Amino acid sequence: MMKISIIGVGYVGLATGISLCLKGYTVSFYDSDQEKIKSFKRGKVPFAEEDIEEAIKECLSNKNAIFADNLKEVLENSDIIFLCIGTPILSKGESDLTNIKNVCIELRKLIKQEVVVNIKSTVNPGDYLEIKNLLNTKNIHLAVNPEFLREGSALQDALHPTRILVGTDDEYSKKILKELYSKFESPKIFTDPMSAIITKYASNSFLAVKISFINEIANICDIVGASIDDVSLGIGLDPRIGKDYLKAGIGYGGSCLPKDIKNIIKYSEKIGISLDIIKAANYVNERQYKIVIEKLHKYLGSLNGKTIAIFGLSFKGGTDDLRGSISLRLIEDLKRKGALVKAHDYLSYEKAKKITKDVFISNDVYPVAKDSDTVVIATDWKEYLQIDWKKIKESMKGNLIVDGRNLLDPKLFKELGFVYEGIGRK
Ligand code: NAD
Repeated sequence: MMKISIIGVGYVGLATGISLCLKGYTVSFYDSDQEKIKSFKRGKVPFAEEDIEEAIKECLSNKNAIFADNLKEVLENSDIIFLCIGTPILSKGESDLTNIKNVCIELRKLIKQEVVVNIKSTVNPGDYLEIKNLLNTKNIHLAVNPEFLREGSALQDALHPTRILVGTDDEYSKKILKELYSKFESPKIFTDPMSAIITKYASNSFLAVKISFINEIANICDIVGASIDDVSLGIGLDPRIGKDYLKAGIGYGGSCLPKDIKNIIKYSEKIGISLDIIKAANYVNERQYKIVIEKLHKYLGSLNGKTIAIFGLSFKGGTDDLRGSISLRLIEDLKRKGALVKAHDYLSYEKAKKITKDVFISNDVYPVAKDSDTVVIATDWKEYLQIDWKKIKESMKGNLIVDGRNLLDPKLFKELGFVYEGIGRK
């Protein structure tokens, strides 16, 4: 049986590795953050992901998930190495390849046997060529294997991927990865590295374009008095368009879409291509959350001294990930305007406390809403549909709700006595 190792055990590395363990493979996991490894060894996951803690415990008791504290040992015992290290960007959009390059230098030094190095991290064409150059040695066979999982359902997505995409020019890698993935039923695409890389960036760019497109249409709806919900339905029923990713709101966040979009724009500029549609999607997204501030001004006038309750800090419901959180950007703008900000999140409240100053943060909605002039829904936690809004209204100073995710039912909220403002909703 092939021996697999995962280097970089974050959302992608853990879900990928555990999915392979559940398929019967033995997988060794290594991360430079040894606190994480210690925690995994105890069956504890230091970030929130559905189903994964139970799955780790199962794999630990089956003894086919090995959490290692020594990179050398892991590498020496591998047939396939998955690189799942974070690939952040610098402030202007350029790749920061420090971590992945450091690992490649170690790989080159330590691996003596025939091995496939499979890049799961998102890397642009230039990054790929740099990595290829670093790993250019006879016994290392390279492939890129972009990941499409979604945080919040990472394990299920890793077990049942929408597609498995492998880019390689190397026959040995192709053979080994075909064998590895034969246990998965998903459609498989084997192509060259550049096609795989462009597919990943094109997928994320297309999603970003779709979101920014519907957000822009929502902004017209607001002015002319149309309903974005009806418009989205009317557009989405056309099978050529499809109904997903047509929910208007205050824009996309997270660790992937904003990063990958900025990175491919920057990289393309370097090679003389202007990605104008993708640039527009990014531009619309950067300004979209400001719609909330305009709406707050419309009802509250100056925000100086107003108490604003923000519901939701994670970049989307179901995760504790604060990377690229629109909510955090909104909070900083509101603070600059002199507002007193209180904030709620179900999962990311502890993480948020460490990085946000002068904001009362809780995992309980009621003290956050108490005495506020307004509640702003910034994250689409479906749990907000179940809370006692009557109790919330009674404890608030004002009665304004700005629903930045079009999550709530406007009719119901008007009946409860709120002034309701969505994004592009009549
Ligand atoms: P993450 O930050 O959760 O995990 C990355 C891990 O790499 C961390 O645990 C970190 O400690 C580890 N690491 C950093 N330097 C290391 C080193 N030198 N040696 C060993 N480990 C090291 O990141 P993630 O969200 O899992 O994303 C990983 C990659 O996958 C990124 O390129 C990302 O763009 C891509 N991706 C992410 C998602 C997602 O939903 N999160 C989806 C598709 C693709």
